Amino acid sequence: MKKWLDENLKKLNLTDVIPHPEGFTRLSFTKEEWKSREVFKEIARALGLLIREDEAGNVIARWNATKEQEQAPAIALGSHVDTVASGGGYDGVAGVLCALGAIKKLKDQDFKPAHPIEAICFVSEESARFGVSTIGSKAMAGLLDLEALKSVTDKNGVTVQEAVESYGLRYEEMEKAARTKEELLSFVELHIEQGVRVEDAGADYGAVTAIACPIRLVVEIEGKAGHTGTTPMDKRKDAFLIASKLALFINERANYWNTQGEYPIVATASTVEVGPNVMNVIPGKATLGVDIRSVDDQLKATLAEEIRTQCQSLMEQEHVIIRVNTLVNNRSIHLDPVVYQDLANIGDKVGLTCLTLESGAGHDVMNMQTKWPSGLIFIRCRDGLSHHPDEYASLEDLEKGVNLLSAYLDKKAGEQYEHTLRGSGTS
Ligand SMILES: [Zn+2]
Repeated sequence: MKKWLDENLKKLNLTDVIPHPEGFTRLSFTKEEWKSREVFKEIARALGLLIREDEAGNVIARWNATKEQEQAPAIALGSHVDTVASGGGYDGVAGVLCALGAIKKLKDQDFKPAHPIEAICFVSEESARFGVSTIGSKAMAGLLDLEALKSVTDKNGVTVQEAVESYGLRYEEMEKAARTKEELLSFVELHIEQGVRVEDAGADYGAVTAIACPIRLVVEIEGKAGHTGTTPMDKRKDAFLIASKLALFINERANYWNTQGEYPIVATASTVEVGPNVMNVIPGKATLGVDIRSVDDQLKATLAEEIRTQCQSLMEQEHVIIRVNTLVNNRSIHLDPVVYQDLANIGDKVGLTCLTLESGAGHDVMNMQTKWPSGLIFIRCRDGLSHHPDEYASLEDLEKGVNLLSAYLDKKAGEQYEHTLRGSGTS
């Protein structure tokens, strides 16, 4: 299996060599992503799977064990092959590779699934090109807003519509990629962790309970610009200094809440714009971008409220104007508890230890969960490094992923199979 994984990992990354010092660049709806999707099809075809491409560009590779299964609801696995610019060779690819590997393993064992099994290669997961993420899985789950997407362009002014049409797809028809609830029984994504919690816990893999979606605030501070040489220290309204105090406050409160609650929270003052941004002028304006994430939506809201209150106090103390706008407030996605439990238990069957955790990053599975019972497995990646040329997951960890997914399929498509046989009196 390791040899198969190694060969196909390289093929999907369109390379002969991993590591790759410059990283991999397969942006959404580009010919590089296209080529990698073609490789996905090639590997799936070699496994005897039926290949279909939907109206949004997702590739669905399906294993029907019987004629009846052609119309039956499937157990689906999947992830993506597009990357950020100069990204790694495992984000996304690990998921589609292990999905196909799990199917290969079962086929090699002459397994006859009771339900059809699918490996899905979603198109355009990363937001690197258009600032919009998970376009393919949104389309499949019926969450695509074509009207809102219409005006979106990449940095060269190419619209999503033009990019999609370069794939030979019709923009207006992308919504037809939406599948009915009856088409899938469940969906599981395997992904590299992009963090170190599994490794730090000494576990082999992670079973994810929920995906933290952000609250994003934009804090505008209006102080007073002035000459840095002639304005005395006690006569200043330095907007950047106030923004700095706020950044420290946010960090301190996030740390505090991590000692209190059941779920972790992370908060970051991640962007700052200073005006006029001139060496000899006291900053009269500062705009701070704040990203708050936790799967505990109430905790996120509490911290956001504390930040607003702190802004109010700073306004009074410092005699400045502060405006706080909420840019994004998305509810966190809780994955299906039954699928989670299956994924957490499956380690016992294959001799692997599991850590239960949440995901701080978004994945295709969050869209799938809105329609189908879905779960997420994390395999380890070295030092938690991702979206970087040095991103790395070992072949051992990829093989663990294959073993977990095949054990999951074995359980979900195996038990039922025997049950069906007993039920129909043919065994
Ligand atoms: Zn990814």
